[in-house]
Amino acid sequence: MKKLDISKLDVLSLIRYDACTRCGECTTTCPTGGEAQEDELVTPRGKILRLREFYKAQYGLKAKLFGPKEIPPDQLAELSERAYECTICGQCKTVCPAHLDTIEMWENMREFLVHNGLGPMPEHDQLIKSIENYDNPWMQPRTQRSRWARRLETDVKIKDALEEKCEVLYFVGCTAAYDPNIKEMALNTARILSNAKVDFGTLGNEEGCCGSTLLRTGLIDNARKMAEKNIEMFERAAPSIIVTSCAGCYKTIRQDYPKIGKVQPKVMHITEMVNELLDSGRLVLDKRIEQKVTFHDPCHLGRHNGLYEEPRRILKHVPGLEIVEMERNRSESRCCGAGGGVKTAFPDLAQKISGLRIDDAEKSGADILTTSCPFCYQSLKTTIEARGSKLKMTDLMELVASACKD
Ligand code: SF4
Ligand code: SF4
Repeated sequence: MKKLDISKLDVLSLIRYDACTRCGECTTTCPTGGEAQEDELVTPRGKILRLREFYKAQYGLKAKLFGPKEIPPDQLAELSERAYECTICGQCKTVCPAHLDTIEMWENMREFLVHNGLGPMPEHDQLIKSIENYDNPWMQPRTQRSRWARRLETDVKIKDALEEKCEVLYFVGCTAAYDPNIKEMALNTARILSNAKVDFGTLGNEEGCCGSTLLRTGLIDNARKMAEKNIEMFERAAPSIIVTSCAGCYKTIRQDYPKIGKVQPKVMHITEMVNELLDSGRLVLDKRIEQKVTFHDPCHLGRHNGLYEEPRRILKHVPGLEIVEMERNRSESRCCGAGGGVKTAFPDLAQKISGLRIDDAEKSGADILTTSCPFCYQSLKTTIEARGSKLKMTDLMELVASACKD
């Protein structure tokens, strides 16, 4: 009989699985289970109880007294699929009365599944191979990583941070660097930093994928290699601050890299930096935008990092802009459906979840839906276009750049 190897289930997670009281508070707000699918196993509680049942059947007291039980392979495969349907949005962590850190539990569960040959999903293979071979998930050559910057106006200067000392290192991220629909995010970030006379540079073609996709799908060893490469680049560039416009890169560099190596510079999301620039008067927004806007909180920025007010404070600086909130906002915000590798492995589910978020945005009466994460932007924009919604999807930095004083 093949026993599950539970060596990758960390002690804290095992304590947390045991501490789940089965109360079910998490089941109704979970965007994957409860809201988008009627299946107990896809809910946070369902996954916890099933995994607990499996490891107790092989390592619990009864297993010690009467021998371990075999877990049928189809049941293991079912648990794995359900575990990968989670967007790791953290909504369950927010509502759990037992204060279980479910975000860490899901990531650890995936590490365990990978270790037992039960994960990730086959649909993730191409992304993973691409990161291994090209340092980005989009099968694009390394030599094209900094190509986005060619579209910048000639007065916007970006230093090569490995050649010239700069105060701020802009970590662009794979999606803003390569995706033709997202490149504006990088361009606008560079324009804003330049407008505020920030001394900044990038790693150019030497920047590698931050490893977020690998971490979220349970491939910890692969992610570690990516992190180590980038940390070495940070040491060579030695900036005071690393800023990123991607919520996924931000979470990874700020929360995960310090577990792998020393990250000396302060790590900031662009919304934090823009707030500082506005407060100090280095950045002035004086162009009017006479529209109603609503902000979608990216999970990696909000629930994972507590940055709820920074984007809203920026919006308040834009003359003419009226801010309206969706009914579910800040820690209660619905997920866009793209996180945790769900968009790659379960695109229909991802679209169903983002559809619920577009419903929220439409009900708010906003003209513009804005956010500060390339994945949320892409996911919500796709759904807006698919359903012919009147909402205009706009990245927050695009709004800032268009309101900037010349
Ligand atoms: S992290 Fe989000 S998608 Fe995953 S189980 Fe919790 S609420 Fe559901
Ligand atoms: S809310 Fe927390 S304690 Fe209650 S069922 Fe969900 S994970 Fe378990």
